Amino acid sequence: MINRPQVNMGYERRWFLFIHSLALSTLAVQLDLNAAHSQATVTETSTTTQSPAENELEQLVKQAETLDAEKKYEESSKLWQQVVAIAPNKLDGHFCYAVALHRAGNLVKAETEYKAALKWKAEELNILSNLADAYKEDKKLPEAIDTLKQALAIQPNPAAEQLHIKLAALLEETGATDEAIAQYQVVLEADPRNEIALHNLAGLFQISGQIKQSIATWKCFLKYYPKAEQSAVVRDIIKGLNAVDVAGKSNDNASDYYEEATKKSLLRWKTAVPIKVFIAPSEQMKGSKPQYSKYLADAFDEWTLATPSLKWQRVEFAKDADVVCYYVTAMPKGSIFSTSEGGHSSLVGTESDPHIIGSAKVLIKTLSAEGDSVSDEEIRSVCLHEVGHTLGLNGHSGNPKDAMFYSTSPHPVVELSARDKSTIARLYTSK
Ligand SMILES: [Zn+2]
Repeated sequence: MINRPQVNMGYERRWFLFIHSLALSTLAVQLDLNAAHSQATVTETSTTTQSPAENELEQLVKQAETLDAEKKYEESSKLWQQVVAIAPNKLDGHFCYAVALHRAGNLVKAETEYKAALKWKAEELNILSNLADAYKEDKKLPEAIDTLKQALAIQPNPAAEQLHIKLAALLEETGATDEAIAQYQVVLEADPRNEIALHNLAGLFQISGQIKQSIATWKCFLKYYPKAEQSAVVRDIIKGLNAVDVAGKSNDNASDYYEEATKKSLLRWKTAVPIKVFIAPSEQMKGSKPQYSKYLADAFDEWTLATPSLKWQRVEFAKDADVVCYYVTAMPKGSIFSTSEGGHSSLVGTESDPHIIGSAKVLIKTLSAEGDSVSDEEIRSVCLHEVGHTLGLNGHSGNPKDAMFYSTSPHPVVELSARDKSTIARLYTSK
């Protein structure tokens, strides 16, 4: 199973902080004017040039900015709230208040304040961009998407490239693959070498079953960025994708994918006795969790439930097993393994009949190609996929909704599809 490298959102959450200095300067300008005014009218006296309220406001802004600089956002947001209460008719106060709330993790209130700041047209692009980030963090994806579209409608748009990439990543998350692809293509039309767009688009083609386009885009990425951090992984992925033996039918609706799954060779277990399976404990492995061994057992349960003639049983020692399963942090060195794989299974036939499987080995990787931990869903989907291979499904499906789809996906398949079940059932009932 080929892993997709992480989607690069193309930005660290970008704060539009310059507004802070602007806040002080505009307030200061106003205070200066007032000061000039009071000086003009009260020429005889050389007393204070600021009213107590103005003084208080300036003090509050300074204190809030100091707290922001110290990353004490909970406290600074309380002061910005007072600034907004004293001077409600100023964009800056609302924007600074919103950013402090946002940074303090108070998303709902931040959204309200960003919207209050939007009543002024100044800084509209920055406010919308921040608001979209807040919506995204608040898991309000449709609102985040609408807000980015609103931001992209502003012309001219110096942040357009970045906003298109953000929008594409959000669209992908909601499953709007075609729209996401279109957004990356807009970026690449203007800037064919855009590293993030090339990287994410290639991955998106990969996980949506568009193998040819994926290989072409990964190659383009390598052409422009041969020394990128991920280049070794990308080369591996291209190798893996070239070896995938499916017709690239992402919307394949046939009732099974038996032809693809058995094209290389017809391999099956004898069904007279249960397959003995050893599952190594996963607790000690880095990046691993105790429940991981259960995921492998669940995978054997699911596949054998769909195949009435096939039974399995767990054994305590590897020496007694037909199938041995291990969790690893990295694939072993060697040409048959690839760093882009999330799992690997190898089958050995029997001497008397090459179509009968004699033994098998399953490796499940607990860390991503980048060395990060992977989600439980992803591990479950890799287990399901590799056990499918172990039971004799020797090829892949081109449909991302099947467990035997060749790549990992943002929506990991954790249950067998109807097509998976029909395919394995057909394998064990065919002559
Ligand atoms: Zn596979």
